[in-house]
Amino acid sequence: MLIFNFHHVEKRILHPERKHITISPQGLSRFIRTLRLMGLTIVSMRDVLASPNPTQNSTRQVLLTFDDGYRNNLLEALPVLEAEQCPATVFVLPGRFAGTNAWDQGHLPEAERDQLLTLEEMKTLAQSPYITLGSHGMLHRDMTQLGDDDIRFELHESHRILSESFGDAYLPVFAYPWGNYSQRVVELMQDSPYQYAFTVETAQWRPGCNPYLVPRYSAYYRDGNPAVLIAKLLRHKLLFA
Ligand SMILES: [Zn+2]
Repeated sequence: MLIFNFHHVEKRILHPERKHITISPQGLSRFIRTLRLMGLTIVSMRDVLASPNPTQNSTRQVLLTFDDGYRNNLLEALPVLEAEQCPATVFVLPGRFAGTNAWDQGHLPEAERDQLLTLEEMKTLAQSPYITLGSHGMLHRDMTQLGDDDIRFELHESHRILSESFGDAYLPVFAYPWGNYSQRVVELMQDSPYQYAFTVETAQWRPGCNPYLVPRYSAYYRDGNPAVLIAKLLRHKLLFA
């Protein structure tokens, strides 16, 4: 199975910092259509969790994910996903509802930070039959730098809030902030409510993979060009694996 990881969906790249984590709405639409034209099937996270062995016979299956929960996911990504009838999972930060990406504060001035979804906006997003939510932790902290209590807080508290706030629209899946994890973090995952945790390793999700180290390919504006996306699929042997 191929898993792609997006962040921002915006008509224009508003800041050079975001160049490698932004795709345009039109690009996202072309991305989805290109995958389907190449004979790939975009599956939902619900399908993945319902399957006893999601990686078996799944080389033609694709999963789309979005990290952080930016407001543009509601304003720009959702209309595309609905028009294309395409499922996706958004990994959100319940410790930062209505906040900004303050974890990038070393790079961006205050006024140029990105708005995260409010709780109400997230509820609107999660009402779509094409959207499921997962946890990105509470505060977007680097989990490799945290002690056990803080790791547990990021894992369990975010799960508790998201379960209570979103019911069935939330699924027990986790995406590590920046894709960072350590052996200890993966150990503590064993006692967590999560069924899968996602990294940003560039690889296919194959049988035998640790469920708490599921890899994802990063996707951004260039992949909205069908020729670039097909070349990427071929380069990584994603089409005929
Ligand atoms: Zn993130």
